[in-house]
Amino acid sequence: MTATGPVRVAIAGSTGSIGTQTLEVIAAENQREPGSYVVTGLSVGSSADTVVAQAEAFGVPLIVVADESARTAVSKATERRVESDATALIDDADVVVNGVVGFAGLEVTVETLRAGKRLALANKESLIAAGPVVQPLRDTPGAELVPVDSEHCALHQCLRSSFDAGREVSRLLLTASGGPFRGRSAADLAQVTVDAALAHPTWSMGPKITIDSSTLMNKGLEVIEAHELYGTPYDQIEVVVHPQSVVHSMVEFTDGSTIAQLSMPTMKLPIGYALGYPQRIATPFGRIDWTTLGSLDFEAPDIGTFRCLSLAYEAGRVGGTAPAWLSAANEVAVESFLTGNLRWNEIADVCVAVLERHDGATPHSVDDVIAADQEARRIAEEVVQR
Ligand code: MG
Repeated sequence: MTATGPVRVAIAGSTGSIGTQTLEVIAAENQREPGSYVVTGLSVGSSADTVVAQAEAFGVPLIVVADESARTAVSKATERRVESDATALIDDADVVVNGVVGFAGLEVTVETLRAGKRLALANKESLIAAGPVVQPLRDTPGAELVPVDSEHCALHQCLRSSFDAGREVSRLLLTASGGPFRGRSAADLAQVTVDAALAHPTWSMGPKITIDSSTLMNKGLEVIEAHELYGTPYDQIEVVVHPQSVVHSMVEFTDGSTIAQLSMPTMKLPIGYALGYPQRIATPFGRIDWTTLGSLDFEAPDIGTFRCLSLAYEAGRVGGTAPAWLSAANEVAVESFLTGNLRWNEIADVCVAVLERHDGATPHSVDDVIAADQEARRIAEEVVQR
């Protein structure tokens, strides 16, 4: 945050779930304190009408549209500057919110860190798939990665209570809601529908991440994300199912003390945390009423039924391009499930089949990561069509 002027925010993926909620947080903050945030740029894949409406509402000077025909439509509809490459967002921003869904978010992650800006990262695939490439860029002067993911935002907050996190952390405990299928058996889950998998009990999110939440792949990818973000060994990262989604994660320290972060389940809190960091925003998006909260439950995850969780630990431990392969295979599998071409329980099968063919490579550049992603996708498509 600059002491002298508004925080300048650019949003990659502005019409998605994270993007629209970021604009809501900014609107709320600006209502409390006029002019505290300005939006300098928005990027979308192809949602022409929505991004033009957002730009009008927030007075945004720059719109980036990836799809060519949508870009032409946007250019006709507005006098504002229109570009094709999302990295055009970075120059005029203090904070770049990366809310792009899937692997496509990698470029914004890499270029924002390379430019020495703050990255509010909701695109977990880019960090997971490209960890070995992204890590060194975090050392760029001025670069700062603040996670926009409820669990990692919670860990970020808990870790601030430590004098020397490198020595004092004994475990990270990621909480998982368990998704809509918690307590169901594998046999029971063979026939689930897209609608049932999209009905998340506590969180409102985009379709890809909601399906990932139903398979626990989301939690598995978050384990890799936690390892990448905080450098904690996999043996010291645990997942605990917590259906109420009020405790967003916990850190246990060497003296046996556990610090947890609690809040109502809304992505606006992690978004606001990343926008305002190191300060806190003034708007509470939901406050806990302790008199009506009731019990908070915790249980071990059913790793026999939700196989994706263990697959993520395996891929994380292998390292190199293995997490990229897993993430790509999962994207293909989830897409196939959403279009009715794959059963829910086959999502894990596809990931297993793809990881079995992993070549053990380590990525040294963005191109390596892109090549790994493409190779894994190609294999995944093959597996899906079998
Ligand atoms: Mg999360």
